[in-house]
Amino acid sequence: MHSRRFLPLFSLLAVLSLVAALIPLTQTPLAAQSQLPTAEQRNTALQVGQRSPGLAPALGPWARSARGHFQSIEPGASSLSFRAILGDRGSSQPIQYQILVDGAVALTTTTPPARGFAQAVAVENTVRVSPGIHEVCLRVAGQQTAGRQSVGRQSAGRTVDCEQAVTTPPDRGEPSVEANARGVVVSPSGVVVPVVGGTTNNWRVTTPCGNTVTLRNGSFIERARIVIDAGHGGSESGAVSGRLQEKNLNLVIADLVIDKFEDLGISAQITRTGDYRLPIGTRAGIAEALAPDAFISIHHNGGAVRRASSPGTEIFYSEVRPESQRLAAILYETMHAAADQFDAAWVDTVNRGASVRLNENGDDLFGIHRFTPQIDSIITEFAYLSNPSEAALLGRADVQEAQAQSIVDGVLQWWFTNDSGTSLGRRFTDPSSSGTGGFDSCTDPSLTAGTVGRFGLSNLAEQAAR
Ligand SMILES: [Zn+2]
Repeated sequence: MHSRRFLPLFSLLAVLSLVAALIPLTQTPLAAQSQLPTAEQRNTALQVGQRSPGLAPALGPWARSARGHFQSIEPGASSLSFRAILGDRGSSQPIQYQILVDGAVALTTTTPPARGFAQAVAVENTVRVSPGIHEVCLRVAGQQTAGRQSVGRQSAGRTVDCEQAVTTPPDRGEPSVEANARGVVVSPSGVVVPVVGGTTNNWRVTTPCGNTVTLRNGSFIERARIVIDAGHGGSESGAVSGRLQEKNLNLVIADLVIDKFEDLGISAQITRTGDYRLPIGTRAGIAEALAPDAFISIHHNGGAVRRASSPGTEIFYSEVRPESQRLAAILYETMHAAADQFDAAWVDTVNRGASVRLNENGDDLFGIHRFTPQIDSIITEFAYLSNPSEAALLGRADVQEAQAQSIVDGVLQWWFTNDSGTSLGRRFTDPSSSGTGGFDSCTDPSLTAGTVGRFGLSNLAEQAAR
């Protein structure tokens, strides 16, 4: 039995919680729609069992309901480990919640009690799943009260968050590449450099322009499942339309793709982090140093003038890698479909689709493929930046988001299925080259001074398009 002297305290808390629940009702009713967690809330570091200040005020009919969201979902071989935050503005009682995988209940359990009203509780747990891509949802099944449990009443459940999640992708890397991979260092200024020798904090690295130097500080990255290459950089702008330059757009898309893989718990590394020259040979060196399953170079096309009824998306794959062809065929489907949901005065050429482009010797023309013959590499050309109508789309954040998602979706499909894609692939010889991507008159960025990498580039393409 609780001592009688606690009763006034409980009464006070009950009144306070009622007041707290009513206050939001006097605010803008429209705000009731915005209960999804922000990215910031998701990223809030919170120890298990700790209180969180991160819950948005509850509004409207849910004012006294439990709610929550996932903080992270980490892949295992046949399991998913999640962290979530749950809370109830009107109670400190334990909250029953369920994890649904592809619509089926995979886990029903209960949080520990919160330390006070409107305090959130962080939980973590693991559910077993089949290998592959899943939709994982968090459902708040009801509030547990002493002596009378609403547990198990699924009809009272409310789905509060859903995320795409994947198990650990099957390893498609070549053992010979992995055996020689020495990792990369992100230098103090943010430049990614492949390690060629030395020891920790005394690394021998290759600079972007191909010089070998010693680096004493930086963040070492041993491996990445995916390497994303942001095409061009520095004096090599790539295609241009108005103020929108391909080198900047490539970086924006590459950055978005990296974030999406990292959200899935899949390691991914970008080759270029800022506006500096990066010859193809060094890009290949970065990929080989990380031994990824796939090496994807992001580009946006230039030159076509032929009017087309749908996007002229082009994907190039490696002549010597069958899995590179399969990856290209799948990405052609996902990326073309992503572009085609928007309206533009599209242009294309006969090379639209997934294809191999050869030089006069019958080898891969592009160094991205030729320098990494043991890695499944592709080059993506989502749409034509040189076409003003398409450039207007490419500068938009929603189109950038759709493109990045289509790349991630395609890679997941490549990993988890045996789909071959419907773009049959075409071999053609075209030795004409832009003459860029080499080491001639290359100027290295500083590896130590300033912040070369990621200095406010997040919306650069969009800003440039205005
Ligand atoms: Zn390009």
